[in-house]
Amino acid sequence: MTHDIWLAWVVIAIFALHWATVLWLEARQRAHVLRNQSQVPTAFQNEVSLAEHQAAARYALSKSVFTSWTTTASLIEAVCWTFGGGLSWLQSTVSHGLGDGLTAQLTFVAAFILIHSLIQLPFSLYSIFVVEAEHGFNRSSLSLWFIDQIKGLVLGLILGLALLAGVLQLMSQGGTHWWIWVWLLWMSFQIVLMIVAPRWLMPLFNTFKPFEDEHIRPRAEALMQAVGFKAKDFQVMDASRRSSHANAFFTGLGTEKRVVFFDTLLDKLNAGEVIAVLAHELGHFKLRHVTWMFITQALVSAVFLFGLDALQSRMEVLSVLGLEAASGQGRHALLLLSLYWLLPPALFFLKPLGSALSRRREFQADAFAVQHAQAPDLRNALIKLYKGNSSTLTPDPLYVWFHHSHPPALDRLRQLHV
Ligand SMILES: [Zn+2]
Repeated sequence: MTHDIWLAWVVIAIFALHWATVLWLEARQRAHVLRNQSQVPTAFQNEVSLAEHQAAARYALSKSVFTSWTTTASLIEAVCWTFGGGLSWLQSTVSHGLGDGLTAQLTFVAAFILIHSLIQLPFSLYSIFVVEAEHGFNRSSLSLWFIDQIKGLVLGLILGLALLAGVLQLMSQGGTHWWIWVWLLWMSFQIVLMIVAPRWLMPLFNTFKPFEDEHIRPRAEALMQAVGFKAKDFQVMDASRRSSHANAFFTGLGTEKRVVFFDTLLDKLNAGEVIAVLAHELGHFKLRHVTWMFITQALVSAVFLFGLDALQSRMEVLSVLGLEAASGQGRHALLLLSLYWLLPPALFFLKPLGSALSRRREFQADAFAVQHAQAPDLRNALIKLYKGNSSTLTPDPLYVWFHHSHPPALDRLRQLHV
């Protein structure tokens, strides 16, 4: 009994610390943005007007307030599911009708995902149709948004439950080293996803077309050839259907790898700037950033599964969180609890490390880009990106250190020496 109470307190402390840290960082971000909103930073005075700078500040404030509310709501939801008895109720309801076999376990998880998605729905609606819309970014209609949600949910359930069925089988029949088998399954799943997603899954949501500007295309091809980039090359995505945010990214594996530009970005850039951004994305490819991210993920998931193995021999954690720990049958519940409530706070406190690595990679890709394109072009493209997305030019340094995968505009321009 004392053991149970001790464990319960550890879990409560982790929940609370996670929540408090998020809110504290958001409060810092808002204070910093407010303090700096009356003046455009010197480096941007020629390109960014005071009105634009203040619009970016208002956008940053809205997003920050919204994040604080959703984090609080998530905490309340987590408490309801665990200490409030939600999971226990769901488990007894499912096992009442279906027993304790694999079907019952999968039904339990599917029912949880459905209810959780329903709870998230109003927040998603608010973020698109209030926060994004108020700042002029939303272009999605209610029907498109609704279809997206259904597609995402169906796809998630099909892929997630197939994977989960495999994982549960391995957990019960894989012997002492089950977690190594699960890890191999998970990594294979990731590799297949990297190949399949650009070809089959992403086109379910967007249309991808080869980049066909007759003036820029030959320059883009020459650049791709110079850096040894073959495969599916350079594509344009119709992001403007949903939002006016602009971006570009590198995705895929093997013959499926490609650089994708949002159409909203192409609208804003001239030929030289397109080439500079393409060079940046090719930098991610050439410097093997995707491979490194994959290796990092492999390590994190191995540690997670090893931890899960340790937890499995201490099933009392389940009863602390409001679930019956019938021998050998709580695996699906343990998996669910770990994935939804133990892993996110743990990953949250590792986030500064991931963010720092990511920002380093952005600097490296920028440095690569200026070897293959013009530095002033990259500078102008970056300013248009930060400006077009209303990204604040004055984020709180600690907030950046913790959350931002991309360095602040000022730091990136400084590194370009232009
Ligand atoms: Zn990048």
